[in-house]
Amino acid sequence: MAITKVWIEENCTACGVCADICPEVFELKDLATVVQDLKYSDYEEKIKEAAENCPVEVIRYIE
Ligand code: SF4
Repeated sequence: MAITKVWIEENCTACGVCADICPEVFELKDLATVVQDLKYSDYEEKIKEAAENCPVEVIRYIE
């Protein structure tokens, strides 16, 4: 399976962990945002690692 969609639900605390782990996909503005129109499957491991390490578990993806 390949990741085709990534998003962040409410309650991001802007801690920056996701952007540290995978800056290609996650950008920290006021809150974390997902870079659009990327081939997310190229960053699969790091997206999963970011989701696992998000302290409030708000990173979601579809594969
Ligand atoms: S790791 Fe989670 S809480 Fe932290 S900036 Fe990313 S989405 Fe927000």
